Amino acid sequence: MPELPEVETIVNDLRPQLVGRRIESLQLTRDPAIRARLVRYPSANAFVRRLRGRMIMSIQRRGKYIVMPLDPPAGEQNLPANGGVHPSGDRVIVHLGMTGHLRVWEPEEAPVKHTHFRALLDSGVELRYDDPRQFGRLVVGTLDELIAARAFPARLGPEPIHGDLTEAEFERLIRARRRPVKSALLDQSFLAGVGNIYADEACFRAGIRPSRWTHRLTVRERRSLYAAIQDVLENSIAARGSSIINYVDGFGLRGSNQEKLLVYGRSGQPCLKCGTPLQGTRLAGRGTVYCRTCQR
Ligand SMILES: [Zn+2]
Repeated sequence: MPELPEVETIVNDLRPQLVGRRIESLQLTRDPAIRARLVRYPSANAFVRRLRGRMIMSIQRRGKYIVMPLDPPAGEQNLPANGGVHPSGDRVIVHLGMTGHLRVWEPEEAPVKHTHFRALLDSGVELRYDDPRQFGRLVVGTLDELIAARAFPARLGPEPIHGDLTEAEFERLIRARRRPVKSALLDQSFLAGVGNIYADEACFRAGIRPSRWTHRLTVRERRSLYAAIQDVLENSIAARGSSIINYVDGFGLRGSNQEKLLVYGRSGQPCLKCGTPLQGTRLAGRGTVYCRTCQR
């Protein structure tokens, strides 16, 4: 599943291709079951209506979400709301789920299998979403609307990189949670963007077993974990993400960070530090890999 580094890579790749572009026409798959699953809010028909003719003002990552604020709808540009300027506040939010891809294609390129959404932009290219497993989500609305409709989390933790999270803030957050480190790291209301891959990698780097309780970590361990989380995420962004399952970047190319993973997906293989076979277990409902010797 794409996590913070993969989504960050895609957002950076798409930015020059999308910002300032207007959506001229859109096509959603006709399959009613896929439409209903994919478009979480509003209805599939309303989604298409609300997007048509709108301009993508910017593209950002928030946690594992791709967020694209839109210009105000046609006819509302000059209508002041609450006595002020009227920013529509509408945004398209995409969650790639397990196997989703958001990419720009030339219109003459045949859509890949499982392409569920296509938007023709005024630059002449098409923004397309494909997703074989269909765990991804597309929504459009104001933040308040999306939160009320449970189409976007009301509480999303801080961003762990780019200097948004200080060490003191991290300490405060982790000490307030009495739970296994792994489940805290996976909790998006604690930290936004960390998933199974980087939770295991961060624990290994910090020398902490994923089953350790957050409130029992020593000061030194908390500091190691804080640094390890940032290292694994930033190194992966530098390597353009981990191509686990079918991840590709905004240009359709694989990342290379999967070759640098030290524990994820390596259960039973020798630890790259000490040679002990790595231990696979389940924690917080997820496959978890760690080294019994290097992690305490
Ligand atoms: Zn080891």
